[in-house]
Amino acid sequence: MATKDDILAALAAVPGPDGHTPLDQSGAIDGVTLRDGKAFVAIRVDPAKAAAMEGMRAAAEARIKALPGVKSALVTLTAEAAAGGPTRPGAAQPRRPREAQPVAGVAKIIAVASGKGGVGKSTVACNLALGLAALGLKVGVLDADVFGPSTPRLFGITGKPDLAPDGEKMKPIEKFGLKLMSIGFLVDENAAVVWRGPMVMSALTQFLRDVAWGELDVMVVDMPPGTGDAQLTMAQTVPLSGAVVVSTPQDLSLIDARRGIAMFKQVNVPLLGVIENMSYFVCPHCGGRSDIFAHGGARHEAEAHGAPFLGEIPLDMTIRETSDGGAPIVVSAPDSPQAKAFLAVAERVRTALFETAAPRATPRFVIE
Ligand code: ADP
Repeated sequence: MATKDDILAALAAVPGPDGHTPLDQSGAIDGVTLRDGKAFVAIRVDPAKAAAMEGMRAAAEARIKALPGVKSALVTLTAEAAAGGPTRPGAAQPRRPREAQPVAGVAKIIAVASGKGGVGKSTVACNLALGLAALGLKVGVLDADVFGPSTPRLFGITGKPDLAPDGEKMKPIEKFGLKLMSIGFLVDENAAVVWRGPMVMSALTQFLRDVAWGELDVMVVDMPPGTGDAQLTMAQTVPLSGAVVVSTPQDLSLIDARRGIAMFKQVNVPLLGVIENMSYFVCPHCGGRSDIFAHGGARHEAEAHGAPFLGEIPLDMTIRETSDGGAPIVVSAPDSPQAKAFLAVAERVRTALFETAAPRATPRFVIE
């Protein structure tokens, strides 16, 4: 059975980012995880040279896969945190992307995005996915929020993905009828890596292509929050049929949401609509409704951009408890008013996707 040391020894045969120093001595290895025969290695590289590092990445992966007892290996390229964080203004824009290729067997891919973190994007993404499944669709969730993957927490998953019968691809983890894949299944929670556009693209492409998704009607992609280069790259790397932007009613969040809307416009991804989360509060004792923040801003914002308003989700303790507890409200209390709010959103998304969606234009990158 291979150990972490065996992985490092195997990487000695692969030249590191400078082209000659062996990877194990290059100082570029950011983390090695090995559990149940599943290996994950992060290699830190200069974001500007990421595209040229693909050969090194693939060679490292092949070496690890060849070790006895290693069932699957995933090697990704990461970058150290730059001052100001991964989405700071003025960060290098991604290069012109490859054409986004369809994923075999997957009919529609939608992005769930937000202009900033903490608005409940992941909570909405998972309940939306469960709502679509409740409508009879085959649904997968790709947790592409590499900055803070929440699928393990939201779905209560601690295991690691297995290798598919073909021996090549990873099997998504199945829970509540959904197929799930997340970087959080592979890296330790405290692995403090910050991803830049090109690295994110490398990991994301692997998750799209090297996971045995099978036949899906809809794949829901939980995007990283924000509108920086990583997000923009992603919006172009994934062959998206449409995007959903989650916002809270506060003004600041709406300004951010506006950036999210603009980002999808830039890359010609149709905006399916805007969801207002934490929209209002219903008192659990008296049933009275309070609009804590100026309510209705997301609807206004959506309409101002000619995008449908997909619905509002209350600020509610059970939504938080169920999503933090690993059984989101749509499965744990499907008849509750809160679950019905998500189901109504899911119905509108299904309509937008399958009944009214015009064929999307070829993705085009317009910022030079
Ligand atoms: P994001 O993906 O935007 O960072 P999360 O989905 O992780 O946000 O949500 C952030 C926190 O807010 C979580 O603890 C989650 O349970 C909670 N939360 C999200 N939506 C709601 C809601 N409608 N009512 C109450 N709590 C919520």
